[in-house]
Amino acid sequence: MSNAPDPRRRPPAVKTLDHTVAAVPLLQGRVLLHEHTQPIPGPRPALDDDLGGVVMTGANADTRAFQLRADVGYQGTLLIDSAVYTTYTATAEEPFMAPPDELFGTVEHSLNFQKARGASAALTPTGYIPPASSRALKAVLREANRIERADTLVSLPIHVTWLNRENIGQLTEVCARIRHPKAVILFRQFDPLEQAKDVPSNLRRLFTEVENMSLLRTDLAALDVMAHGALCAGIGVRSSLRHAIPPDDKAQTGKGGGGPTYPHILMPQLMRFKGAEFLSKVYGNADPATCDCEECDGRSLDSFFLSDGETQREAENHNIYIWSEWVSNMASYPAGTERKTWWRDKCAAAVDRCALENQRIGVGASPKSGFQVPAPLKAWATLPVTP
Ligand SMILES: [Zn+2]
Repeated sequence: MSNAPDPRRRPPAVKTLDHTVAAVPLLQGRVLLHEHTQPIPGPRPALDDDLGGVVMTGANADTRAFQLRADVGYQGTLLIDSAVYTTYTATAEEPFMAPPDELFGTVEHSLNFQKARGASAALTPTGYIPPASSRALKAVLREANRIERADTLVSLPIHVTWLNRENIGQLTEVCARIRHPKAVILFRQFDPLEQAKDVPSNLRRLFTEVENMSLLRTDLAALDVMAHGALCAGIGVRSSLRHAIPPDDKAQTGKGGGGPTYPHILMPQLMRFKGAEFLSKVYGNADPATCDCEECDGRSLDSFFLSDGETQREAENHNIYIWSEWVSNMASYPAGTERKTWWRDKCAAAVDRCALENQRIGVGASPKSGFQVPAPLKAWATLPVTP
């Protein structure tokens, strides 16, 4: 940072961890918030210190991560995701992209740089791995196993079709042979888990069969993999950070684009994100659902239909409070069958409440007029609980 701080207000030096401090115990059991705060990150009281943390991403993620440590005094678990996969595609020769503006431009340097900026563990700068690009995936395996550090997660930014029936076997085998913990990021326009019917079950299978897997930049799939033995997970603070799209694609929003953006609200009873505009409409002639989280304190869920920054922040905090409570509830069940059963029953209850909510407010279940059950939620509610 170029601005020299006033020495009277200089914050304590940021404590950094070297490459011998293992990533696994620092991340075990946590659901992190995938953040893209601009311009200066603020504290998030909604985040649970014991079970949460932050993944800082986007432009200048490292600078903002350092600010979060040095200026805000954040001491919790922190990762820096420079998201090279949004612009760089992995090749058989160069699966990792070392940021070109860095002096030595090596992967080792990129990992050290994240740690110096205050990251608890380091993420490899892996490029996007396109559908069926076996050579790029194998190159990640080759280069990852050359890394001699305990603090590194190998990031796997894969197109969701890697989870299809014909590819899942190879993906699982490569993951099992990478001797570091792994961080999967799923690519597709819209919800990756809706790409094919078997994606939710195959994602589970991957996380059950391979140790030390994590799923970053996702939505409630974070809780599904946590229930099924993931090392850790990360939920995006807004919808663009709950999946990723290939470097050559433009984000499709389902609308014409442009215009104000409104928050997406996590519905505590229905267990899904819904746009504020939709909620404002659907509750227009009915008693709106309300929320008792610390942020809302009884607030109506149709009251977020505003595009200002304060409302956005309130919506984000509401979302974090809601999923953090679920993470904390989940952690109170022993890992294994009990935890998986709790999660399945919770999802099944949300599926049942959907029809009830539509009846209560007098609307049908068509996408325009009422609530529909998202396909992944239905899968989580019905897939068998395996021991
Ligand atoms: Zn709330």
